[in-house]
This record gives sequence, C-alpha cells and structure tokens, in this order.
Amino acid sequence: MDQRIERVYETVVSRNPVEPEFLQAVHEVLESLEPVIAAHPEYADQGILERIVEPERQIIFRVPWVDDDGRVQVNRGFRVQFSSVLGPYKGGLRFHSSVDLGIVKFLGFEQVFKNALTGQGIGGGKGGSDFDPHGKSDMEVMRFCQSFMTELARHIGEHTDVPAGDIGVGAREIGYLFGQYKRLANSFDAGVLTGKSLAWGGSLARPEATGYGTVIFAQAMLATRGDSLEGKKVLVSGSGNVATYAVQRAQELGATVVSISDSSGAVYDPAGIDVALLRQIKEVQRGRVSDYVAQRSSAEFRSGTKVWDIPADIALPCATQNEINDHDASIMARNGVTLVAEGANMPSTPEAIDVYRKAGIMYAPGKAANAGGVATSALEMQQNAARQQWSFDTVVQKLDHIMLSIHNTCLEAAEMYGHPGDYVLGANAAAFEKVADAMVEQGIC
Ligand code: NDP
Repeated sequence: MDQRIERVYETVVSRNPVEPEFLQAVHEVLESLEPVIAAHPEYADQGILERIVEPERQIIFRVPWVDDDGRVQVNRGFRVQFSSVLGPYKGGLRFHSSVDLGIVKFLGFEQVFKNALTGQGIGGGKGGSDFDPHGKSDMEVMRFCQSFMTELARHIGEHTDVPAGDIGVGAREIGYLFGQYKRLANSFDAGVLTGKSLAWGGSLARPEATGYGTVIFAQAMLATRGDSLEGKKVLVSGSGNVATYAVQRAQELGATVVSISDSSGAVYDPAGIDVALLRQIKEVQRGRVSDYVAQRSSAEFRSGTKVWDIPADIALPCATQNEINDHDASIMARNGVTLVAEGANMPSTPEAIDVYRKAGIMYAPGKAANAGGVATSALEMQQNAARQQWSFDTVVQKLDHIMLSIHNTCLEAAEMYGHPGDYVLGANAAAFEKVADAMVEQGIC
C-alpha cells in the first residue's frame, strides 16, 4: 500500500480496533485503490479516502420485546447509514446472533461500492440485530419486528433510507416491519422497504434476483474464455434466499449443483439439487438441510458446514462471510475449481483470495457478483414510484442487463488500471471513482 493509503488504514484501525470484518473489508478496498489514487490527485486533496471509510451516521438502539412465555427479551438494533452521495441509503437488515456493529459496518461499507456499480442511484447502508429468528414462533418474530421498527422508523424513508432483507430477514419479516412502519407513519409508503410481498408493492423476481444475478455474472466470466455453465459441476453453500435461486438458475443453464448447506450441516447430492424440494423444506416448512436428505435418496448428509472439498468446476459461496479460508481454497484449486463467484458478502478470507490468484482461479467478489439483489430492489423502488408492477420476464431482463453491465464495467476498469481480468481491482476502482467523483462535486460533507 502507498504511504497515504496506509495512513488512512491505520486511522481506521485505531478508531475501530475490535471490528475485524470491517477492517478486512476496508483493507481489501484500499489495497486495490493505489493506481486510482495515483491517477486522481484531486481525490487526495479532497480527503476522499478519509471520508469514505467513516459512516455518515451510526444508530444503535434497544429492542425490547416479550416472548411467548411472557418474558421480556432485549436485543440490540443497528442501522449504519454509510453514504448517501449517490442516492438514499440502501441495504438490507440482517437478523443473526453474530450481528454486531463491526459486521453491520463491513456490510454497509461493501454496500456503498456495490450500489455504485449497479448504476441505479442508490447510496449504501446496512442494519440488523443480534436477534435470531431460528426457533422463534411467528408471533415472537412479529413482536420483535414491531419493536425494531418502532425505533428504526424515524430514521428511514423513501428518499432517506430504504432497508431490505438479508440473512434472517425474508418476506415474513419484511411484512411485519412494513406493517408497523405503516401504523407509525399513518401512510402507505411502499417505497420505504424493498423485498415486499407481491400483493402490496413487491417486485416479481426480487426473491430470485441475488442468486440469479450471481449465476449470470459467473456465466459472463466463463464467456470471456469461450466457455459456459453447460455441463459444469457446481458447489453452492447455504440454503437460504441467495443459495436457492443460484441453484435454480445454474441448473437452468445446464450445470449440476451438487451441494447446499446450513449452520447444522451440508448436503452432497451428485444427482443435482432438487430445487422444488429445497424450497418446500426451507421456504414452507422452515426446515433444515437434513430434512432434504431424508426425502431424497441420491443425497447424503455431511457433518460440518463446509462443502469445499467436494470435487467440482465452479464454486458459488452463498452463506456468510469468511466461509472459505486458504485451506478450503487450496483444496478447491487441487480439485479443479476454475471459478469462484460470490453470492454471499465477503465469503472468502484474504488468504483464500491469495490462493485463487496464485492458482489462476477466476474470482468475482460479492460486491460485483451479488449486486443483482440490490439492483432489483432499486427496480422495486421504481415500480413503487410509478405505481406499476412489471412482469417477471421484464424484471429478469433488466436484471440480466445490469449484471452484464457490471461485469463489463469491472473488466474495463481492471484493464484501464493495468490489471486485466482482476475483478477485485476492477469492481473497487470503478465503484470508487463513481462515488469519489460525486463526493468531489458535492463538496466537503
Ligand atoms: P438467508 O438467511 O436466506 O440464508 C442464509 C443461509 O446461510 C442459510 O442457509 C444459513 O443457515 C446459512 N448461514 C448463515 N450464517 C451461517 C453461518 N455462520 N454458518 C453456516 N451457515 C450459515 O440469507 P441470504 O440468502 O439472504 O444471504 C446469504 C448471503 O448473501 C449473506 O452473506 C448476505 O449478506 C448475502 N446477500 C444477500 C442478498 C439478498 O438479496 N438476500 C443480497 C446480496 C448479498 P442457517 O439457516 O442454519 O443459519
């Protein structure tokens, strides 16, 4: 890293010493910006780096709620409004026991760049809580969501901040959150949340968008080598929203997806994951991947949550951060994996990324490969503003177009800065330039 960038990073470390995921995300971006800063001295003069690593606003709040036994429970809620330079803050809410300020900041920081790449006029933010919806009744989830929104409502709005789902926040949670927002605001502001139900303002293809988009990005990467997904063996981790629709689209394009996982274990299904069965278990029954094995004779259950030692051509990590370390990456390289496209946010550790580089594995970071979800959220906002609902095919066509455009933007930026084929540098450079130029134009704020 050049000295000026190093100094910025040192300040971030000293201000946020106990937030390892945030530091990891910042380091990965800063490390790749050296040629961009060298080409744009005006960014240094304007303190762009110093400003971009500091969220505009961080909100932490108490979320008290009453469980089914009448006991008072207290969780912690977060919303980090990272950057509004390109539009209203936009980014999901995560409900998982591991959520803390550092996790929300890493996700919010990544979101700024991801959203810039979509070209949809959205800023970056993220939020969530250490509340874990697993094992909670619908009524408990509802009471929690109502309490969470009671505080969050004053900080969000169609033109201010538009949250969506993430881990642990799907259609059910968005419904409860929206219901409470509507009571508090006394107004049906559909544009205040995305990922809504189709009946009251949601977009067709939003549930599919992140997984579909990741697969389209991977397909575009393969196309640069005259290859495609047809006949490829694919590893997917996770079994939630992103994983399910990555499996579906990859198989529609001729691949065989042989794995899924959750926090209780993993599944190997050499016959290819049965998406209808997976959806029934996960979306309807709220079951575990072990239930999949019980109903599918070709599948076997694996203890441990990792799938990376299964021989395959392509890996699409779709569960959570840092789920692939250097050891996993080395096994993948040995087993013949040639491409990794991230459906999850930051699923590869920096050491794993080093292994990909050395092994010549094509690698697309989440901020580029999984941007289809937030891009389609922006399409949902457009439909809400126009009081329209577009057809499934219209939304998927727009999504595919956006993903191909992000792919090409990354490649062009990588080429321009002398690192052809480097999707990390390309994504960071292209997104950073867009955000930085807007910051210069809007003055010191
Ligand atoms: P879901 O809650 O629908 O699914 C998450 C899946 O990952 C579940 O199978 C879950 O298992 C598993 N998982 C989560 N944490 C862990 C863990 N610590 N160890 C093992 N398995 C784990 O979330 P999404 O599919 O929405 O999100 C998955 C990833 O994609 C996240 O990184 C998210 O930030 C990212 N993403 C999501 C977008 C979206 O539109 N939803 C958009 C862009 C990125 P279990 O149920 O057992 O916890």
